[in-house]
Amino acid sequence: MAEKRRIIIFDTTLRDGEQSPGCSMNLSEKLEVARALEALRVDVIEAGFPIASPGDFEAVQAISQEVRGCTVAALARSTEKDIERAGEAVRNAARPRIHVFCATSSIHRKYKLKRAKEEIIRMSVDGVRQAKGYTEDVEFSPEDASRTEPEFLVDVVTATIEAGATTVNIPDTVGYAMPSQFGWLIRYLRERVPNIDQAVISVHCHNDLGLAVANSLEAIRAGAGQVECTINGLGERAGNAALEEIVMALKTRSDFFDADTNIATRRIYPASRLVATITGMHVQRNKAVVGENAFAHEAGVHQHGVLSHRETYEIMRPEDIGVPSSRLVLGKHSGRHALKKRIEAMGYRLADDQLEAVFKRVKVLADKKKDVYDADIEALIDQHLGAAAEVWSLQALQTTAGSTAIPTATVSLAQEGKTVTDAATGDGPVDAVYEAIGRITGIRPTLTDYSLRALTGGKDAQGEVTIEVEHEGRRFRARGLSTDIVEASARAYLAAINRIITSGRARERPAQP
Ligand SMILES: [Zn+2]
Repeated sequence: MAEKRRIIIFDTTLRDGEQSPGCSMNLSEKLEVARALEALRVDVIEAGFPIASPGDFEAVQAISQEVRGCTVAALARSTEKDIERAGEAVRNAARPRIHVFCATSSIHRKYKLKRAKEEIIRMSVDGVRQAKGYTEDVEFSPEDASRTEPEFLVDVVTATIEAGATTVNIPDTVGYAMPSQFGWLIRYLRERVPNIDQAVISVHCHNDLGLAVANSLEAIRAGAGQVECTINGLGERAGNAALEEIVMALKTRSDFFDADTNIATRRIYPASRLVATITGMHVQRNKAVVGENAFAHEAGVHQHGVLSHRETYEIMRPEDIGVPSSRLVLGKHSGRHALKKRIEAMGYRLADDQLEAVFKRVKVLADKKKDVYDADIEALIDQHLGAAAEVWSLQALQTTAGSTAIPTATVSLAQEGKTVTDAATGDGPVDAVYEAIGRITGIRPTLTDYSLRALTGGKDAQGEVTIEVEHEGRRFRARGLSTDIVEASARAYLAAINRIITSGRARERPAQP
């Protein structure tokens, strides 16, 4: 039997995903995601766009240093400065890649770059040649390829492969392509580009019409050997192709695609949860593969079918993507060892001191709440990992509210060992708390979204508050967790304020494919 084609999974959660509004991550969060991607065994991590800001540069550099199991890529426009920055940032990677892009469609040529076709080819070739000076592994993307004249695309791709590009990426930058048309374009390039066998064809699809995954899969059928994607389909506007959907489609229907990936699928669910928690961008309940309802069978007839023979209604098993199968884990009297085993089974790797800190928090929670579920533990771990970036931390909180009282809150926050206390009134207890936090920190973002949900069943369940705030034109998401919903609200708001402080000033980001 002939061997299946191995499709290269190029993850751009940290670059394309991170640039979507409200999803920016700090350095420790980016490293945490990079570690999860390495455990997931993606082939390439696109770690950022080094020229965009000093923060981006540092993140790419740190990820290059730490991640040894994947290729680490840095994005650059086809200009000297960009490529120089990218080259410096990935210098210490085990396997560095520079990803150079240049817009090629007539609309971009005319309105964005104001250059003729010959000039575009020259810029692209120069960029690839310069990048080759830093690493053998160079990827080139003709931005907006799906709206570029196919004949011109052939010229650009031929010239950049000749200049040394080892991967040519065909982006559907604006999510405009239709599956059969996009598949046609890949076949056309394979037929017309004379040196196409010297490079891997990659695709990068956006989801504006909900077709990112369909277009990517069609491109694989047409001969693409690499797909660019993100965890949970995160990305600009409607997002990118979702990694979990592409990987599970290839796995579940390997009979159809005759292709496979190197992904450790059991790490999909933990990675999805981590990215959702860090970015505050919830996964919709009915999202394919990783949504809460993806494996839930409500209808009686389906339930009966699944219980008697699973495959009647399930094409994938929840454990294949790492959904924890036993839900109830710990009570008040469970020990460290049980917790450690549980955490490992959930896909996390914690250092001893981290484990100890989480253990203490679980004990505190178990005093308030009879049963501790996987979801509770997951949330505590995520909170603990996120706490590293805390500027202000919550020390104490007291509120009075009721139908006749004026809602009042007293809040104590600490920063670098110094505690500050203030009080305020508001329209309700949460409003009063937010006002008090604003008085202490001096930061008063506009609250643009607030949602509350119970993390597990039962009236002693933890409340999870997710908020979105706007501050000086930028959006930030954060969440907070507690068995007390006012406290959860306070934690979410404080997390958002910490995020504002650590993110620094608003950045002007150049457009990216
Ligand atoms: Zn993109």
